[in-house]
Formats: sequence, C-alpha cells, structure tokens
Amino acid sequence: MKILVPIKRVIDYKVKINVKPDGSGVQLDNVKMSMNPFDENSLEEAIKLREAGKADEIIVVSIGCAKVAETLRAGLAMGADRAILVQSEEILEPLAVAKILKIIAKEEKPDLIILGKQAIDDDNNQTGQMLAAMLNYAQATFAYKLELNDDSANVTREVDGGLQTINIKLPAIITTDLRINKPRFTSLPNIIKAKKKPLEIKPIADFDVDISPRLKILKTEEPPVRTAGIIVGTVAELVEKLKAKSLV
Ligand code: AMP
Repeated sequence: MKILVPIKRVIDYKVKINVKPDGSGVQLDNVKMSMNPFDENSLEEAIKLREAGKADEIIVVSIGCAKVAETLRAGLAMGADRAILVQSEEILEPLAVAKILKIIAKEEKPDLIILGKQAIDDDNNQTGQMLAAMLNYAQATFAYKLELNDDSANVTREVDGGLQTINIKLPAIITTDLRINKPRFTSLPNIIKAKKKPLEIKPIADFDVDISPRLKILKTEEPPVRTAGIIVGTVAELVEKLKAKSLV
C-alpha cells in the first residue's frame, strides 16, 4: 500500500495577513510559511496507517518554488519516506496543480491519495475533487474518520448537521477535515534523520501541461474593521437601543 500526500506551503495560520497596498494579493515577503494545516492532518493519517501495518510507503509531493523543499523536509521529519518537489516559480491554480498531481499519480501508482480539504491561503477546496475526476478515482471529501480494508476504505465524512459513512473502492482520493486527528510534533532526531531521506526535484517544464491561469484576481480587500461597542447602564436602556435598531 502506497500513499501519496500532496502538501502546500502557505502563510502560517498564526500570522496576521496584510493585503498589498494595490490590492493585487497578500504580502508574502518575510512572512512565516508553514505546511497547510489540513495537509498535516493528511500526513498524520498516512503515518498512522503505516504504524498500523496497513501502508508501506508514504510520499509527500508539492508544487511550488525552491523554498517549498523546507516544507517537504518538515513532512519527511514528521514521518514521510520520500518527497517530490515539482519546482515552479509561478503561482498555480488548483486546475494546474491537479494536472501535475495526475502525472505524479500515474507514475507512482498510489493506492490512496490523501489531500487537505482546502489550502488556507486561497480557500479553494478544488484540487482533490479535480484530481479524482481526472484520474477517474473514487473520492471521499471532508474525511473525519478513515478505516482501510483490503481493496476499499470506509470513510466517515463531516456533512451538514452530522456524519456520513461511505465505502469507496481503492485507488481513491480522500480529503481531510481538521477533526480527523491531531498531527504529531516532530522530534529533533527525526528532523536530523529527515535530512538523509530522498527529496527529488523535478522542474515543471518537464511536465507537458498547460498551467496557464484561468482567472484573474480583480481585488483583494481586508475584512471591514469592527466598530466599537457601547456600554449601556440598564436593561431598559439596552431594550430601547435594540428597539431603535429594530432588533427586537
Ligand atoms: P485547494 O484546492 O487549493 O484548497 O487545496 C486542497 C489541497 O490540495 C491542499 O490541502 C493540498 O493537499 C493540495 N494542494 C493544493 N495546492 C498544492 C500544491 N501547490 N502542491 C501540493 N499540493 C497542493
């Protein structure tokens, strides 16, 4: 059983995002970058399957600039066996990412591809679904629990107001939700060991795919600043204020 885990390098979730003055996007210079949190969940799930003796090899793959190698090393330190970096200096849309992942999947022939449900930078929630369509694989999105059988998987999904369990034939695509597990911390010895694990770099030009953008960002805006609240002296005053705003 081979598992492919696509991971994306994104602005760390704890960093306050600043929009560029011209509104063309967000500032990325000198900003702490990390592995997309949902991808940590995917990798944790793959490692747990290997620890349970249900998987033999975990490959992390990412498409991005040279610095993405750091994020892949973090994945190797967490427990992946090897890494593939498809190097591109362009910012790629999910369709282009899915096209590249399709080629990697055809080469590597994984039984399972576990992606995050979305990357927290663009909140697209598209790559897993597109990849499943391109590969003609079954897909289970928003996974909350995963149980592997011989040639299929039972996946419990987070759906509106509850949980739904489905059975999908392998090979399959799974996209993870945050509650599926708690990603482990990486120990120092594992960080050192990760330096010796294989990390293959493939230039994107070697892939014969159209990665041209299909959309143009027209504007990026900060959320509106919340106006200050007021403190009222009595319940009667509160009711009066709410009535004035037609809230009661
Ligand atoms: P998105 O569709 O952009 O919200 O991303 C969903 C998932 O696709 C992420 O959680 C990753 O698992 C994967 N993904 C997105 N972009 C990349 C990328 N550049 N390299 C590798 N995996 C990616």
